[in-house]
Amino acid sequence: MALTGLDIFKLLPKTNCGECKFPTCLAFAMKLAGGQAKLDDCPYVSDEARAALSEAAAPPVLGVEIGTGDAAFKTGEELVLFRHEKRFVNPTAIGILIPDSLSEDEISAKIKQASSNSWERVGQHLGVKLLAVKCESGEAAKFKAALEKSMGSGLAIMPMTEDVELMTQAVEVIGDTRPLLYCANSENLDKMGALAKEKNLPVVLKGDGLDSLAELSERAKSLGLEDIVLDPGTRNLRDTLQALIAVRRGALVGKFKPFGFPLIALPCEETDDIFFEGALAAIYIAKYADIVIVSSAEAWFNYPLQVEIQNIYTDPQKPMAVDSKIYEIGTPGPDSPFLVTTNFSLTYFIVSGEVEASKVDSWLGIVDSEGQSVLTAWAAGKFVPEAIAKFVNSSGIAEKVSHRKLIIPGYVAQISGELDEELPDWEILVGPREAADISAYLRHLTKTG
Ligand code: SF4
Repeated sequence: MALTGLDIFKLLPKTNCGECKFPTCLAFAMKLAGGQAKLDDCPYVSDEARAALSEAAAPPVLGVEIGTGDAAFKTGEELVLFRHEKRFVNPTAIGILIPDSLSEDEISAKIKQASSNSWERVGQHLGVKLLAVKCESGEAAKFKAALEKSMGSGLAIMPMTEDVELMTQAVEVIGDTRPLLYCANSENLDKMGALAKEKNLPVVLKGDGLDSLAELSERAKSLGLEDIVLDPGTRNLRDTLQALIAVRRGALVGKFKPFGFPLIALPCEETDDIFFEGALAAIYIAKYADIVIVSSAEAWFNYPLQVEIQNIYTDPQKPMAVDSKIYEIGTPGPDSPFLVTTNFSLTYFIVSGEVEASKVDSWLGIVDSEGQSVLTAWAAGKFVPEAIAKFVNSSGIAEKVSHRKLIIPGYVAQISGELDEELPDWEILVGPREAADISAYLRHLTKTG
């Protein structure tokens, strides 16, 4: 049974030293019981207490590592049901289904497309993480050939077969890449589990509903398996959504250990309608699939899912920010315009995108505003005349440009007078309020000088 905060408190040093970043040992104990702190954060826990607390200290959803090298990723380790409670930890991994029944050329093309699905968005890398190579043919040679092709993709691999003999052969081919074995079920668990344990590989447990999943998880634990991913085995929206929520709630709220593992959903097995499949994938990403397997490797299908994942898995308490410095957009020279804005990532990428689209080579100065957008930063006193002037004076821009014209965002037009006083050598120009108007503004500016 899970320990309560008071149970944990009794085992702590009770010195309230604050080194764990909580003001008291009791506050730390309550957070530890809720899975929102790590036992290692307190340097003074005795070995006896550590042993007694190990159960409470274990994360409610264990982490599982899949793949090796650049293809490696971690899944699970979630601590909260809702992002605003703290943050989500390991972003949902998208896997692309590769049936071995496709022709060799089709398999190669799909693998190439999956691995080329890679994007930079607001300074972060987004992309597919996994190839789910499914033995649909039932033929060992075809399965092996598809797995061999997958090995050069730079992505992690999930071989899919319930046949332990075929899986054993698959492991001989790709075992060194730390594949996720899919899957062990109530019939093959002993043998599939033995293979996973012998090779120290993660394995998916596929249940037939929640009761069977819990039973399977208990059996897997008794076999000594720890690197586990759970598939409730449901294959329709209502049942899958209910199962994903119930399993994650069971792990986080009910502290039900058999459900304390990452979850996988396979919308590719729930419908033949590609648009509905996309909707299913989006729903399962939101609640609470850690791995989602889809049938399409097309960029139009995958990019929106990646953006959704990025939005959900960014830390709501940490604004996304870019470095404060002068950025060159195009190849600016001494006569090029000089604009400033804040270091909120979205602001930077929207403004720099619009400047780039204008085809007017420009200098873009990014003022440290603690990752806040223009109006928020102005209201918080971070994007104010003193801060902008300090940035301009220390940025070195005066040596890069021959003019002394500084363009500020239209939303802070009200600071132009004060900024004039802070930067007496500079002429303050008020740019457009909306980023969409920057392009026309810059083109007009360069025409009129
Ligand atoms: Fe208590 Fe340990 Fe936190 Fe210090 S670091 S306040 S002893 S829990």
